Amino acid sequence: MKKLILVRFGEIFLKGLNRPFFIKKLIERIRVVVSPYHAKVWFEDSRVYVADFEEHDTDAIVTHIRKVFGVHSLSIVTAVEDKNMDTICRVAAEIMQDKSGTFKVSAKRSDKKYPMDSPKINAHVGGYVLTHNKNLAVDVFHPQHTLYVEIRAQAYIYTAHIMAVGGMPVGTNGKATLLLSGGIDSPVAGWMIAKRGVELNAVHYHSAPYTSELALNKVLELAKILSESLCGIRVHVVPFTEIQMAIHEKCQDDLTTLIMRRYMMKIAEKISDAEGTYGLITGESIGQVASQTMQALLCTDNAVSKPVFRPLIGFDKQDIIDIANRIGTMETSSLPFEDCCTVFTPRHPRTRPKLESVEKQEKLINAEEMIRRALAEYDVYEVDTLGNMTVRKNTISPFC
Ligand code: ATP
Ligand code: MG
Repeated sequence: MKKLILVRFGEIFLKGLNRPFFIKKLIERIRVVVSPYHAKVWFEDSRVYVADFEEHDTDAIVTHIRKVFGVHSLSIVTAVEDKNMDTICRVAAEIMQDKSGTFKVSAKRSDKKYPMDSPKINAHVGGYVLTHNKNLAVDVFHPQHTLYVEIRAQAYIYTAHIMAVGGMPVGTNGKATLLLSGGIDSPVAGWMIAKRGVELNAVHYHSAPYTSELALNKVLELAKILSESLCGIRVHVVPFTEIQMAIHEKCQDDLTTLIMRRYMMKIAEKISDAEGTYGLITGESIGQVASQTMQALLCTDNAVSKPVFRPLIGFDKQDIIDIANRIGTMETSSLPFEDCCTVFTPRHPRTRPKLESVEKQEKLINAEEMIRRALAEYDVYEVDTLGNMTVRKNTISPFC
């Protein structure tokens, strides 16, 4: 008899030929998050099982697994290895001993060779529990407690389904490059796309000395929070000061934010090419600021040829804040350090920009040369699932 964690995943995406691939990815992800606890992870009978951990680590392990994309729910179960009915009854009574009110037993017999069928198990275990707890009564229609008994390779007994994040295992739906600022929106946008099974890497533009070390640390802290669900993320931290200063000095004031955003997109596309990702992700939403009107978004999109995914496009700010709170990024995103966009914001940005004017203004700076310099040597941070971080220098050739 021992405690283990039973992990369920969605059925819809598990149909067809991709099934082994999805399961392999999911098991890989779960193995990584439970690795500090030296737990054993295996797949059996359409579920993943986690066992051989210290009992006092149970809550921490559950917290980690709940965040893994692809996991839909889990249960902490007591396993009876030999499926002996007397032992099952004793375990059931023990699990129910502190409970009062109404209950029912819900048995499931996947092992069809087991001598008792499900209705018989319900009646037998239910009867035993009743005789050992006078505070319980049976109600099969609206019970306050349900005691699950599953007869599979072993017998598993439990009372609760703990809901998890859902989605698909990261790495099962291609890769994309996230433009990650220190704000509220972009971490949420990345999280939403990754939830569909997309592996992410990120680009952050910083404008030292106008933006501080604290602003960069905030972005890396966000990357760490995301990496728990994303199973690791690489963050390219690209210096943007020279380009931003040139735009600020040479271009028409009311178009500077938009021109800056176009350069962010162009550089991100080069990083996306080098990383072999299929598109860019931003936290933009229609009308949130001047650079996110329909006309402005058209100008931004026009800067790159890869698809730009904007999962928050129709969201109100409050909806985004609600998700940020739920996924744990809100507190860090709310720290007050200046981002490169805020430092150079024009007083009256154009809300209905014309693409021709933007392109004309853009030609006033020698951007190709500056992009080459920005990508000649910059820092890349590798954040793993457990939040460990290493940094190295990277170079991207503009001709790649
Ligand atoms: P966020 O949108 O993440 O809350 P923000 O509101 O400060 O940050 P916006 O001005 O709304 O940023 O920028 C729109 C999008 O452009 C962001 O969602 C993000 O994808 C991208 N972006 C902005 N600033 C940066 C930056 N410094 N580095 C990388 N991407 C950025
Ligand atoms: Mg925003």
